[in-house]
Amino acid sequence: MDIGVLRRDGRTDPFFDGTARDELMIKRCEPCDRWFGPDATGCPGCGADELGWARACGDASLVTWTITHGRDPDDEPAFLALVELAEGPWLHARLDGVTGLREGLPLVARFVHPAEGEAYLLFSGTRRSPQ
Ligand SMILES: [Zn+2]
Repeated sequence: MDIGVLRRDGRTDPFFDGTARDELMIKRCEPCDRWFGPDATGCPGCGADELGWARACGDASLVTWTITHGRDPDDEPAFLALVELAEGPWLHARLDGVTGLREGLPLVARFVHPAEGEAYLLFSGTRRSPQ
């Protein structure tokens, strides 16, 4: 299933600058030592309304997932997941090449660089399946 061409909107520049470098950038509140998803706008701990960006390690575990079938029956189904990052925040992302789906399955962030538009994030299993 094609997710379309991603365009940055200014607010998400640090995130897409990160995906272009194969780095997962999320929000972080340094004073509280807490991590937040990339769409967080403030820290509920200290009330800071400006959060910095920091690089997450890319390790995650599977929380839940849905399988979306395209309109064309020949389309590959897409696996849309909610993952918990090692740093704590939860993210929605696509899964790729993951078998044996189960809650808590270890995942690792990967980055896809399409010919057009921004690089994007997906998660795959930590054990490389033979190519
Ligand atoms: Zn804080």
